[in-house]
Order: sequence, then structure tokens, then C-alpha cells
Amino acid sequence: MRFDIMTLFPEFVEGILKESIIGRAQKSGAIEVCCHNIRDYSEDKHRRVDDTPYGGGKGMLMMAPPIYECYRAIVDMQKSDADISRRVVYMSPAGTVFNQKKAEELAKYDNLIILCGHYEGVDQRIIDEIVDEEISIGDFVLTGGELPACIVTDSVARLVDGVLSDAECHLNESISSGMLEYPQYTRPFEFHGVSVPEVLISGNHGNIDKWRKEQALEKTKTRRPDLLK
Ligand code: SAM
Repeated sequence: MRFDIMTLFPEFVEGILKESIIGRAQKSGAIEVCCHNIRDYSEDKHRRVDDTPYGGGKGMLMMAPPIYECYRAIVDMQKSDADISRRVVYMSPAGTVFNQKKAEELAKYDNLIILCGHYEGVDQRIIDEIVDEEISIGDFVLTGGELPACIVTDSVARLVDGVLSDAECHLNESISSGMLEYPQYTRPFEFHGVSVPEVLISGNHGNIDKWRKEQALEKTKTRRPDLLK
């Protein structure tokens, strides 16, 4: 799967996504992540990408033309792959709130293009023309779409075949499994006077499974009863 991220701060996004599992997945070729600097597509001699909003109001708005040219360049780069499935999302606090189901849906595309806004956001006409959906990462406002784009990329990428090793499998995790995950423990056996639950060192896998299911259910009932509906 290929991710194309349109941003004014490509180094910021690259810096985050080159680390750890997502960085390793790029090196192995399981995914491709390309960051594009929208400023490179400005026709303005000072490489301006924003202007004041019509009708007045505070702040600056990202202009449509450089974003459009950046988008066209990404699509043209892949035009030999005419059959690829593609989704264009704009990270926006006004979008649908992101969740695991949406990550699973997006992981089915060959190419995900993510537009990161900045300042007061982007000209509505670019949203109307190129964006398939607006996605929010929660009911709060950030200064830019770069962190949201990294969050979406990370959660979608880890669902792509070959990104996680067997040991990192996502199927039993909180949310993916429909419940929150049971508590987990590793060495040392005793930490600050608290020992690991005896059942986990019993070697009885039936009892361990049963204990884990009970713990997961209890935790979900207490913290996220909405998931059990
Ligand atoms: N004026 C915009 C509004 O009221 O909807 C907010 C603009 S925000 C300060 C700047 C950019 O940050 C947005 O264009 C968007 O890309 C990103 N952003 C901020 N909060 C976000 C959130 N909760 N989820 C996704 N993107 C967000």
C-alpha cells in the first residue's frame, strides 16, 4: 500500500514515520510513504501557499491551486497503475471521528492520499474537488493536520500484510477484538512487592485463556461498556 501525504511540513511527518515498525515496513517494501511539500507547487515567487479569507475573519487559509497541483503530481506519478484503488482524505476537526473500523476500511485501498491543513484550514473548493472524506482524530483542535496524518497512517499501515510480524499481530488487541485487552505482565516476576497473577505461570493454557477473557470482559464493562453493545 502506498501513502501520499500532502503537507507544508514534510520533514515533520517523515521524522515520525521513519521510526520503529512503520519505518521498518517502508524499508522492507511492505508499504511506501511519500511526503509532498505543497509549497513546491506554489506559482508565487515567494512560494506563498496561504491568503486571507474572503469575507474577513481571523487567520490565513491555504489556497486551492498549490494543493491541486500537488495532488495532480501524485496522481500522475502513478498513472501507469491505472487500476489502483485510491482514497483522498482531508484531516479536519470537522470530519468523521476516526476509529479502528475506519482504519480497516482505508487499509483496503492501494493508495491513500492525505491532505494536512494548517492555519485556519483549506479553501472549500479543494475539498469539494479532490477530497473523498474528511477525517477528525477527535473533538479537539490542533495547529495542523500532520500529527493526525501520522496517526491515520500508522493505524492503517499496521493492518497491511507484512507490516507486523506474527509476534506483533493486531488481532487480539483492544478495540480490534471488540473488547479492551486483558492486563499483561513480563519479567521480573515481582515488582515493588506485586507478583504476576499465579494463573499466568501455571502452564495451564485453558485456565490462562479463561482468565484473560474474564479480565478483558471486566475491563471493557468498567471502562468502555459501549463496546459490548
Ligand atoms: N478552522 C478550522 C475549523 O474550525 O475546522 C480548524 C483549522 S486547524 C487550526 C488547522 C488544521 O489542523 C486543519 O486544517 C486540520 O488539517 C488540522 N486539524 C486540527 N485539528 C484536527 C483534528 N481534530 N483532526 C484532524 N485534523 C485536525
